[in-house]
Amino acid sequence: MKIPFSPPFIDEDVINEVVDALKSGWITTGPKVKALEDEIAKFSGAKSVLCVNSWTSGAIMMLTWLGVKEGDEVIIPAYTYAATALAVIHAGAKPVMVDINDDFNISIAEIAKSITSKTKAIIPVDIAGWPCDYKQIMDLVSSEDILEKFTPTSYAQKKLGRILVLNDAAHSLGARYFDKNIGTECDVTIFSLHAVKNVTTAEGGAICLNMPAVFDNAELYSELRRMTLNCQTKDAFSKSKAGGWRYDIVGLGMKINLADVNAAIGLAQIRKYDTLLSQRKEVAARYCKAFSKYDWAVIPPQISDAKESSCHIFPLRIKHATEEQRDNIVQRISEADVAVNVHFIPLPMLSYFKELGYEIKDFPQSFKNYSAEISLPIYPQLTNEQIDYIVSTVVNAYNSEKII
Ligand SMILES: *Cc1c(COP(=O)(O)O)cnc(C)c1O
Repeated sequence: MKIPFSPPFIDEDVINEVVDALKSGWITTGPKVKALEDEIAKFSGAKSVLCVNSWTSGAIMMLTWLGVKEGDEVIIPAYTYAATALAVIHAGAKPVMVDINDDFNISIAEIAKSITSKTKAIIPVDIAGWPCDYKQIMDLVSSEDILEKFTPTSYAQKKLGRILVLNDAAHSLGARYFDKNIGTECDVTIFSLHAVKNVTTAEGGAICLNMPAVFDNAELYSELRRMTLNCQTKDAFSKSKAGGWRYDIVGLGMKINLADVNAAIGLAQIRKYDTLLSQRKEVAARYCKAFSKYDWAVIPPQISDAKESSCHIFPLRIKHATEEQRDNIVQRISEADVAVNVHFIPLPMLSYFKELGYEIKDFPQSFKNYSAEISLPIYPQLTNEQIDYIVSTVVNAYNSEKII
């Protein structure tokens, strides 16, 4: 049995929606993007939602909008996908990496230790779809001693009056935090709509705006929408109308808008996301039940009083496994034609970040989690037969590796 890691969900409804965009005579940013933004706003509860062409470009734009510059610091976890750090660097600031908890998410105690007068933003990451401790993070940035340290150096920073919290929610569309879907916990939440994510537009991202009351989120949406289109005062849709030719460029924009042909894929998916999400949860539940029989298997958190995972990744860990033993197990699983992954290689282990001076020895929990981690396939199309085959493949691979 050959099992892929994360194939996209493409059914007749997805195909029809794309064909509808193609036949409409309008294929770039227009009605499909607007409809997708409305669906994501409804689903997440966010005040305004702006779609862009990737999580990465959306994060660069939001940090640029915040006015970060050389010397400014943005706190991120060492355990995440590289885009979290690269966005900070592209925006002109320095990523300050901190270690994680056993649950893979950024440690609040480590954040608190790392805040300086240069800190302008914090980017927690909901690894695997498990929400971070947002109440604690929001309390922290609003606490008196942290407010005292805050030194705004741009218009947006002055207006906000504290450190901005931007959720890297690339994994957590549909995750729950205190009985609400993720999307309203912090100032800005960005979902990724990349091909492997829970809802996809092939490439794409959705920026949820929940800035505090001093900001008008609808106004901010218009300002940022323009910024995604080269800061041009008229978009292609209005310019395509007779007589609408004159425009102006009012700032240094980016070109990061999402196209309608892409949005159509995600639009058809999010309309049935409740079903797709519950199918993911069923896969996770079957893994949990199967692996609970083995004391060497560390099952990732799925549900607690405050949180519920969006089951984007199933990060199984092998108790006491060294990095080498995990690699051997992954190799054996791959030989049985089951595609697994490791999420993530901590950033300080990647060449570019090493060259910048980050060292893995400073992030012991990140290294520990990484060494023992194997991400199993998880998606709505997986059958029970496939899940059981994956489980027995993992168990066999474990048994042939001698781990004390
Ligand atoms: C996928 C991913 C991103 C980047 O998303 P893109 O849409 O590909 O830019 C950022 N952060 C995390 C944690 C991711 O997994």
